Amino acid sequence: MLIETHAHLDYPDFAHDLDDVLRRANEAGVTRIVTIGTSLESSRRAIALAEKHPAIFATVGVHPTSVENADEDVITPLRELASNPRVVAIGETGLDYHHLPSEEVAKEEQVQVMSALRTETDEEIEAQIRDGAYKSKQASVFQQQLDLAVELGLNAVIHQRDAWEDTLKIIRPYSGKVRGVFHCFGGSLEEANVVIDLEHLVSFTGIVTFKNGAAVREVAAQIPLWKFMVETDCPYLAPVPYRGKRSEPAYTRIVAETIAAAREIPLKELADATTETAEAFFRFNRS
Ligand SMILES: [Zn+2]
Repeated sequence: MLIETHAHLDYPDFAHDLDDVLRRANEAGVTRIVTIGTSLESSRRAIALAEKHPAIFATVGVHPTSVENADEDVITPLRELASNPRVVAIGETGLDYHHLPSEEVAKEEQVQVMSALRTETDEEIEAQIRDGAYKSKQASVFQQQLDLAVELGLNAVIHQRDAWEDTLKIIRPYSGKVRGVFHCFGGSLEEANVVIDLEHLVSFTGIVTFKNGAAVREVAAQIPLWKFMVETDCPYLAPVPYRGKRSEPAYTRIVAETIAAAREIPLKELADATTETAEAFFRFNRS
């Protein structure tokens, strides 16, 4: 048996055939699925799915790219939502600097006539200020969610993209109080070891099956068997041979098979270890 630890089943991609998706997951041996909230609305939908389907559990959180549209106080509603017994973690939460407000301005300016003597425009300066505000809003909402996780005794699902140093800076003081899983891990072995040394986990997606995923596959082969989980991050990142199509929880098996092969161990050994790790991390049926 396998546990899919990161799916977005509340996304419209699954609105029309969720029963088939769940059946295929079960047939592939994926008996539990954690569906991840990315905003208050998404978290509410995640809980509704978890209440309806015994195989599904939910997390509640506000994704870093959703903070701009989020309410001033997301913690009061998140606390309320997290009291539902089907909720198994806080998140996803974290930092994402992949698309900053200033990039939009830069793009717009490329189509304008470029002057050789150009100095910083007001728009650029304004964009830098907006970048700073965007980053500090993400940091604040991230920190508040970590505090909520501590308060409720839940663990946290961490999203980190192009913000490695700042993410570590925020999460470092929480070691020993809350455990995080750095989901969709794409870093180096050194970075994985930093995460593990802080008593957090990583999890791997279908990227381990990609041609250009050799480095991540190698990290998955090298870190201790008890320090990672498997996921799809569906509907994104479908593993080979489904790359480019909609991903779904059944493909967790392909992720697990690929890592087992890279580690030269039987699939069952990998499935047993990652399942035990996921059970300890999410503590299903805690109520
Ligand atoms: Zn996600």
